[in-house]
Amino acid sequence: MSKAPPPTPAPAAAAVPAAPVEEKKPEKKEKPKAPKRRIQVHKLYKVEGESLSRLRKECPRCGKGYFMAQHGNRLTCGHCGYTTYTQKG
Ligand SMILES: [Zn+2]
Repeated sequence: MSKAPPPTPAPAAAAVPAAPVEEKKPEKKEKPKAPKRRIQVHKLYKVEGESLSRLRKECPRCGKGYFMAQHGNRLTCGHCGYTTYTQKG
């Protein structure tokens, strides 16, 4: 009456030849080099007539000739890392 379907033989796993492993070399991405910014020293001074004024605060650690970089809320010395925070408000 009820005919059971003949068991279908499982498809024989075809012997897949192992693909040759390709050696992946890490690709070296060339980073676009940002142009090195040189400090524009002439912007640190202001000359009025015969008087010279310095526009940046000098580093108290390094002394004369080392100016502090002005950031949003702080002054930092790029030479020694001295940082002072300027409080706003
Ligand atoms: Zn310094």
